[in-house]
Amino acid sequence: MSTVSAYAATSATAPLTKTTITRREPGPHDVAFDIVFAGICHSDIHTVKGEWGKPRYPVVPGHEIAGVVTAVGSAVTKYQVGDRVGVGCFVDSCRSCPSCVAGVEQYCTGGGMVGTYNAVGRDGEPTQGGYSGAIVVDENYVVRIPDSIPLDAAAPLLCAGVTLYSPLRHWSAGPGKRIAVVGLGGLGHMGVKLGAAMGAEITVLSQSLKKMEDGLRLGAHHYHATSDPETFKKLRGSFDVILNTVSANLDLGAYLNLLTVDGTLVELGMPEHEMKVPPFPLAGMRRSLSGSMIGGIAETQEMLDFCDEHDVRPEIEVIAPDYINTAYERVLASDVRYRFVIDTESLRQP
Ligand code: NAP
Ligand code: ZN
Ligand code: ZN
Repeated sequence: MSTVSAYAATSATAPLTKTTITRREPGPHDVAFDIVFAGICHSDIHTVKGEWGKPRYPVVPGHEIAGVVTAVGSAVTKYQVGDRVGVGCFVDSCRSCPSCVAGVEQYCTGGGMVGTYNAVGRDGEPTQGGYSGAIVVDENYVVRIPDSIPLDAAAPLLCAGVTLYSPLRHWSAGPGKRIAVVGLGGLGHMGVKLGAAMGAEITVLSQSLKKMEDGLRLGAHHYHATSDPETFKKLRGSFDVILNTVSANLDLGAYLNLLTVDGTLVELGMPEHEMKVPPFPLAGMRRSLSGSMIGGIAETQEMLDFCDEHDVRPEIEVIAPDYINTAYERVLASDVRYRFVIDTESLRQP
């Protein structure tokens, strides 16, 4: 076992503090790597604040992890020391259920995926995430970061990137598709960039017009404020797909009414409270309400290669670990443009 520095939450209300955690010695199939950058996802905040149920404190969050391989197990074939690699939201799954076999491990029906943090690994030990100096992960749950993508920009792709890439592909984003992205935060801004790169017509629906200039620069074709009731009148029946990335509960009926006949609202945000769905806007136009969770390992690799090819990078603000608690406050205030990424250098020092 090795000891590394990390930032952990010890309760729902206390700030995250610096601590040390242990990582297992790499087994035959494991890749050990130094974490160089880790993104801050709103899911980290929901988790540590106990909004999805009481987590296993202490929790070291972070599931947007980019780094460089330092050791590989004897049976590892895909990676070698020095490779640039990433890990997203999960580090294992059953590997034999239909979902795992189909490469959608995030929907594992054989016990569920093993989260990168706040879960229990195959070895019976709690998993701890990317706000730390190093990690050990089975090679089958590691992806390769293309050379053209800097590690700090790669980190947010591993959750925010694939969480938008997967539904955009599943609902066939491309020329002629009218897609609305609700919420211009970490996920939303990736939806704009990826959707535009796929050739779809992208509309941002944000609470205000404060970030309109950014949204249009990122590739959106249209931008509207949801605080303006006119938005819901003039855009009625406009979209084939709505990707809702908002971390809070919305009036879903109002958004369903913005879909065409047979349109689909895809729920990506995971607010703390239950969602209320009125039946008339749904049944009346044969609309669908769906959801989507991150993406599988193969799809995550495909997304990284797509970003390489189409020059898609997140917009990031790199911070030191001692800024994490302030960054959380800013995310909660929708004051993020558009992902905080932790430079973990100080956590790699002994
Ligand atoms: P984020 O950066 O905080 O972005 C969320 C955005 O939602 C904000 O920037 C804001 O956009 C909007 N928003 C926030 N509060 C709102 C409110 N009260 N009313 C209306 N709009 C509001 O968060 P994120 O990291 O993108 O994550 C977003 C959500 O997705 C979280 O719930 C997270 O847990 C979830 N998530 C899901 C998956 C998945 O696999 N499905 C993966 C990762 C994250 P505007 O300022 O533009 O209005
Ligand atoms: Zn995430
Ligand atoms: Zn499975």
